[in-house]
Amino acid sequence: MKIVLLGAPGCGKGTQAAKICEKYNIPHISTGDIFRENIKNQTPLGIKVRAIMDSGNLCPDDVTCEIVKDRLLKDDCKNGFLLDGFPRNLYQAEALEDFAKPTVVIDIKVDFSKIEKRITGRRSCPRCGGSFHIDFIGSQENCPECGAKLIVRKDDTPEVIRERLLVYRNYTEPLIDFYKKQGSLRSIDGDRSIDEVFEEIIKVLG
Ligand code: AMP
Repeated sequence: MKIVLLGAPGCGKGTQAAKICEKYNIPHISTGDIFRENIKNQTPLGIKVRAIMDSGNLCPDDVTCEIVKDRLLKDDCKNGFLLDGFPRNLYQAEALEDFAKPTVVIDIKVDFSKIEKRITGRRSCPRCGGSFHIDFIGSQENCPECGAKLIVRKDDTPEVIRERLLVYRNYTEPLIDFYKKQGSLRSIDGDRSIDEVFEEIIKVLG
């Protein structure tokens, strides 16, 4: 099972990715999480990409592809994996064809007008990577999973969200056609509850 999850920022990719990986026991590979971890640990990579991420733009393709390629060589990917946030553009999609062609690409579709509300209400856990919405957790300040203090991601502010959506429209959305042509694309309506979206994904994955 080599799964790619596509979808605009705030479509629920991260939440669905965690559920899918738990069910099928495959690693959840999120390039955004890898970059954030590097920023937290102030590695040379983290220092290099920090400003780019804070502005909502894409990190360099060569570095990103290298990270994913190395990660997919690890033992835990032998029976499959789920990529969340990669590929983000045609260059990365073509590179992925060379080192690990995906078997299924799930595109989670959401109404763009709802995305800003979805993202500005998001609270993230810097420790376990969990992501929660204030509609569900209310004013709770600590992570429901691990207890760490929740934060608002720097790129979850309205201005940066607008930039991220623009980047998505210009660079990531063309991948829908790319994977349609490959015959691996499955589209899911993401404007429903977490459980409903998950059920449909499970049906698609068989
Ligand atoms: P995400 O957590 O997937 O929303 O990603 C957060 C940020 O990390 C993005 O806005 C980019 O700056 C960077 N990023 C994540 N994945 C990629 C990728 N595949 N290519 C380039 N930049 C990425």
